[in-house]
Amino acid sequence: MKVAVLGAGLAGLSAAEQLVRRGHEVVVLEKEPSHGGLAATVKRDGFEYDLGPHRFHTSNNEILDFVKGLPGIDLLELNRVSRIRLLDRYFDYPLAFDNVLSTMPLHRGTGMMLSFFAEKIRGFFAPREQESFEGWVLSRFGRGLYDLYLAPYNKKLWGIEPSQLSADWASQRITVPGLAGLIKETIAPSKETVRSLVSTFHYPRGGVGEICRGFASGITETGGSILFSTEPTGIGKTENGWCIYTAQSHIMCDKVINTIPVNCYTKLLGDLLPEKVYQAASQLKFRALVFLTVLLDGDIEPLDHWIYTSEDRYLFNRLSISKNFDPDAPSQVVFEYSCQEGDDIWNMSKEELLRTTIPGAEHLGIFAADKVLDSDISRRAHAYPIYDLHYAGNTATVLDALEDISGSVTCGRQGLFRYNNMDHSIEMGKFAALEILGEASVKDHFNWDENTWADG
Ligand SMILES: Cc1cc2nc3c(=O)[nH]c(=O)nc-3n(C[C@H](O)[C@H](O)[C@H](O)COP(=O)(O)OP(=O)(O)OC[C@H]3O[C@@H](n4cnc5c(N)ncnc54)[C@H](O)[C@@H]3O)c2cc1C
Repeated sequence: MKVAVLGAGLAGLSAAEQLVRRGHEVVVLEKEPSHGGLAATVKRDGFEYDLGPHRFHTSNNEILDFVKGLPGIDLLELNRVSRIRLLDRYFDYPLAFDNVLSTMPLHRGTGMMLSFFAEKIRGFFAPREQESFEGWVLSRFGRGLYDLYLAPYNKKLWGIEPSQLSADWASQRITVPGLAGLIKETIAPSKETVRSLVSTFHYPRGGVGEICRGFASGITETGGSILFSTEPTGIGKTENGWCIYTAQSHIMCDKVINTIPVNCYTKLLGDLLPEKVYQAASQLKFRALVFLTVLLDGDIEPLDHWIYTSEDRYLFNRLSISKNFDPDAPSQVVFEYSCQEGDDIWNMSKEELLRTTIPGAEHLGIFAADKVLDSDISRRAHAYPIYDLHYAGNTATVLDALEDISGSVTCGRQGLFRYNNMDHSIEMGKFAALEILGEASVKDHFNWDENTWADG
């Protein structure tokens, strides 16, 4: 069987690896000049950096053993250090009640507790709606913490009001069920560790992109091919299979596995789908990220892997320190700026970004302006699927229609419009291959309602 795989991120490469291992002919089409997708390590002009902090963690030992066994992989085990910068102080991340109380100015801490109790009383008489991020969070944390951190951070990250953001995002991402839960965790920590609270993680020496490099070398050594800088321009059904058109040529194949953004995929399928599916797909929006990497002269003091910066004085919403992931990494900081493709931040030049970033870095005490040796910029248009109030219905319309098309499977973070992690994409790719072979199904294997998806 010949299978075309769209996208050479973890999901696409994992699917391709399964298939070549089983003796099938595979061609992977990737629009970028290199593999890795969001889990790439950018290597350019002497720079090597990840696209934001990537910790590898999985509760699936099979996936962990598989990744450990990829050619040339050396997985480091690290203890997470991450903080939030607020009110010119550092708070532990994930939030811990005792740390919040001891770090916060007294009047703010008192206000936070009073607003929490006021919210509980309000809940008896006029419960808040639970469909939006705003309603979900206010009813569990109160207005104090909401106004101080949860609302500004999420507004900056998503670019929309928290009232327009689905509560699914909150329930997946905020793993402590409210301020009462934070207090309980401090007094009597639960034995079960939820995903985003996991304190140890793995990281491949040499950069997170080593995982994709390991996959890719296995694929090409087993006879599979990866076509870089190749973007499909259309996909058609033939009598026995599929034809993928590209600017350069066309590729005939029996089956297709998609891992590129699902709204791009539906466009490529042309009139194979009904109009209402295109309408729904056009409503699915992605948040973009710009990454600025700053190379420094000398060491960086903070031991954090990453630091969140929700306040407006910082244009970036997070920074990460490469050396704290891998001691052999250069002395550099990667800043992330959340934006929409084509907006003012997206269009900022490297020099403009540097000008707004360096004062913030100095204020944080990360580095001084005279330590900057060089910098590099990368942009990714499809970083986060935006869970707005209508995303669930639109996603279901699109995915249900795609399921009805035989000989094609869609998976991965982009292909399912799902805020998932590296290990999920690897596992989904594997199950997409098994689905193509008629041995399993991606949908049946994953519990779509499971609230343990979110990481970075
Ligand atoms: C800032 C950040 C931090 C993160 N941190 C963590 C973390 O700590 N831990 C964790 O587990 N996960 C983390 N993640 C999530 C993780 O990176 C992703 O879940 C995973 O890499 C997704 O893999 P994928 O293959 O599903 O999608 P992608 O990596 O997006 O791969 C899709 C591929 O398709 C290609 N493509 C797109 N359009 C086309 C086209 N038209 N034609 C051909 N190719 C195309 C893209 O170039 C890309 O290579 C983070 C993500 C981000 C953005």
